[in-house]
Amino acid sequence: MVWAESVPRVWRERAKKYRLLGGKCPACGSVVYPHRQVCPYCGSEGLQLVELPRKGRVISYTVIRHPPSDFVGKEPYVVAIVELEGGARVLAQLTDVKPEEVREGMEVEAVFRRYREQSPDGIIEYGIKFRPAH
Ligand SMILES: [Zn+2]
Repeated sequence: MVWAESVPRVWRERAKKYRLLGGKCPACGSVVYPHRQVCPYCGSEGLQLVELPRKGRVISYTVIRHPPSDFVGKEPYVVAIVELEGGARVLAQLTDVKPEEVREGMEVEAVFRRYREQSPDGIIEYGIKFRPAH
């Protein structure tokens, strides 16, 4: 699963400020998250780091009841595709909401949360999650 990402130190520092960083393609204008070197839509390189809107809405979601081994004990949880303001789509866990309360079209906002207390190399891993917007 790609959403359980390990974030380097500089990103952890930024996480405190709740910034959501993606990449913008200079050729076709697509915005992707997370940032990467090559545009998945047109194959161009040199994507620019851009700050993404923190708010969006749930496009679709799945309730995970049989998680990968690292997440056993946290089920059930919800993984959703969130369309941010501006159109970039992010695959991430939802938090602060019960699975039965999730709806398509629900407005959500990004927060940084721990994914795991400790990874095998002893580093706390952070990632984006979304919670209902108030
Ligand atoms: Zn592109």
